[in-house]
Amino acid sequence: MKPDCLLLKPLPQKAREALGHAFSVHEMWLADDPAALVSRLGAQCRFVVASGGAPCKADLIDQLPKLEIVGNFGVGYDSVDTAACAKRGIVVTNTPDVLNDEVADTTIALLLGAIRRMPQADAFVRAGKWPGGNFPLTGTLIGKRVGILGFGRIGQTIAKRLSGFNIAGISYHARSAKAGLPFRYYGNLTEMAADSDVLIVITPGGAATHHLVSRDVIEALGPQGCLVNVARGPVVDETALIDCLKTGKLGSAGLDVFEFEPKVPAELMALDNVALAPHVGSATTYTRDAMGMLVVDNLISWKEGKGPLTPVPETPVPPRTGR
Ligand code: NAP
Repeated sequence: MKPDCLLLKPLPQKAREALGHAFSVHEMWLADDPAALVSRLGAQCRFVVASGGAPCKADLIDQLPKLEIVGNFGVGYDSVDTAACAKRGIVVTNTPDVLNDEVADTTIALLLGAIRRMPQADAFVRAGKWPGGNFPLTGTLIGKRVGILGFGRIGQTIAKRLSGFNIAGISYHARSAKAGLPFRYYGNLTEMAADSDVLIVITPGGAATHHLVSRDVIEALGPQGCLVNVARGPVVDETALIDCLKTGKLGSAGLDVFEFEPKVPAELMALDNVALAPHVGSATTYTRDAMGMLVVDNLISWKEGKGPLTPVPETPVPPRTGR
């Protein structure tokens, strides 16, 4: 008999089919009574699939006494309560690496979109304004100093992309300096922002990074500066960001993520110096398929007693014998 797997949110079709071959899948969002479903599965369910829009917190975990593994669809797993999982010996997996290229590409699109005002140029053409005169000249990426906050898998992939542009240099801030990389490390984020024209944010979310990009950091970037956030909304103090964009203390911003998404403040949407996207960093069919298959491969590997493929560091990594 196939073991039960509680799926909290839809997976891409290819991954959903693969999951169905190996597990008896219960789709939480389709249940007439989700609480009754959880209570019915509680006694035997060992597998859960979670994602950003479908948090896996202590209230759910507590109702699943046999839970062994949570497969998170996404590399960022701030929506999974890893502390509650670790306490129970539950493994959490995520989807690293398979989305590096896509998120890096999205970052470059937002960066150029913000600096070259591509959304505004598009709106200008659509509004039929071109016959009335040319679109105003914009800023440029040429010669700019780029600082990257978060220099892990995706941050370093972004740096590789940027190395092909005619910019003045790349520096980074993370918790620790990386050996052997040809980029300047700043131990202090505000200092890096003061020495940068562009700040790209690509850290995890969660308590440790909440409002890491503070008003001070934004003001240090300055009136010509551009902030690009592809990490998580709460990493940036959104109220300070809007205020700085409105008052000219910050030049422009490219944002894929928002503090209270999917709610985006009307004040932000009204601004002319921003490029906005609805959290689409990895959102292509190709990459989402790869992420979905990695979720499923993790669960199957666990089921077969081979251990998790990509466990997160906060939860225990058991020997590759499974249970
Ligand atoms: P990663 O390889 O774990 O890299 C994370 C980087 O952030 C590391 O350099 C780490 O520093 C740094 N960091 C963590 N906490 C920090 C702190 N308190 N202060 C300063 N730096 C800190 O992760 P990744 O695969 O690159 O993914 C990064 C994040 O991108 C994800 O967690 C997710 O939130 C976000 N993301 C967004 C999208 C989207 O759709 N917009 C898509 C994918 C990912 P150390 O190197 O010193 O450890």
